[in-house]
Amino acid sequence: MKILSVNAGSSSLKFTLIELPSRETIASGLFEKIGMEGSFYTIKYNGEKIQKECSLKDHSVAVSKLIDELLENKIVTSLEEIEGVGHRILHGGSEFTESTLLNEEVLKRIEKYNELGPLHNPANIMGVRAFMKVLPKVPNVGVFDTTFHQTMKEEEFLYPVPYEWYTEYGVRKYGFHGTSHRFIYKTISEYLKRDDLKVISCHIGNGGSLCAINSGKVVDTTMGFTPLAGIMMGTRSGDIDPSIIPFVMKKTGKSAEEIVNDLNKKSGLLGVSGISSDGRDVEDAANNGDARAILAQNMYAQKIANYIAMYNNLLEGADVITLTAGVGENSKTMRKMIIERIKSLGVKIDDDKNDFRGEFRLISTEDSKIPVYVIPTNEELMIALDTMDLIS
Ligand code: AMP
Repeated sequence: MKILSVNAGSSSLKFTLIELPSRETIASGLFEKIGMEGSFYTIKYNGEKIQKECSLKDHSVAVSKLIDELLENKIVTSLEEIEGVGHRILHGGSEFTESTLLNEEVLKRIEKYNELGPLHNPANIMGVRAFMKVLPKVPNVGVFDTTFHQTMKEEEFLYPVPYEWYTEYGVRKYGFHGTSHRFIYKTISEYLKRDDLKVISCHIGNGGSLCAINSGKVVDTTMGFTPLAGIMMGTRSGDIDPSIIPFVMKKTGKSAEEIVNDLNKKSGLLGVSGISSDGRDVEDAANNGDARAILAQNMYAQKIANYIAMYNNLLEGADVITLTAGVGENSKTMRKMIIERIKSLGVKIDDDKNDFRGEFRLISTEDSKIPVYVIPTNEELMIALDTMDLIS
């Protein structure tokens, strides 16, 4: 069966058409600047690439264009071939503990969490409604970033703040990147043929989070009420002392929103290095001796290592450490820097095995106390697999 896996943003729509159960990607693409001047789209299939500029007034127009292109280029021969559409949805609050078949009533329930994910949720829902309009007979499934983390216990997901903030306003840790962490757990547990693994999953890309997983259930994760918490990221600060916010507000005259924007968009690797949020640029600068780039890299690696050590304690000894996403899959330098900082756990990297990019591989030495695997993530496939399960 063919399943479309979709990630709709406020002005974009990313899709992958996947054949199941073979897991083959048939086509993928991106519609950009939807509702703006200069909108365009790119579709890749079968070694071909289509790139066109065209007016895309809203997401429904983009979906109609996508369907036209799939038919015109014979990527599908009829619409009946598309049996389901799976949608990435950022936030399902505490309510959605599994991927869910979508209808208007369910969308209304998801909309309650828009204020917890204001940049993504309304756009994700807009994408669902566009498919409901253009392909009314095809079932839609919502796959949430938050659901995998809903197994955390109260003692892990609560903040030590007035309890009423939780009961009245829903202030708690939700966690994100759940679809990626779930895919990684599924991949490593299938590979090692064990469903009782204790895994520390490190998703380190432009955004980043770690997740402590025991037997498929999340024990703790580093992102929190929002994706701003946890490790240092490309442009996000990760954990900081919250008193910094009113202090810098007074010093700069900026509003709370402006400071939070600085913490989301001008901090992390970018803020410390002053060069870039991209690990490659920071690495180049560090190799040329730039002191702040070296500082940024050291801080980045150390914060990840600290959380790995913490999660090893929480899991009472991890069986596996996994690295994924842009940095984890591609940067041998950062992988080495992180693993060198967890030598107290008896973890050792094999430099020869670590010399590659973007593949599933073991990178630790034979005598490493905990094996370390690099596993390319595939959230689109996970969304498609959930969709297949729910519509079958
Ligand atoms: P993602 O968010 O998973 O798409 O990851 C994107 C990020 O991965 C980019 O912003 C880069 O910082 C990082 N990245 C990709 N390739 C490399 C590399 N070879 N070395 C360091 N960082 C990389």
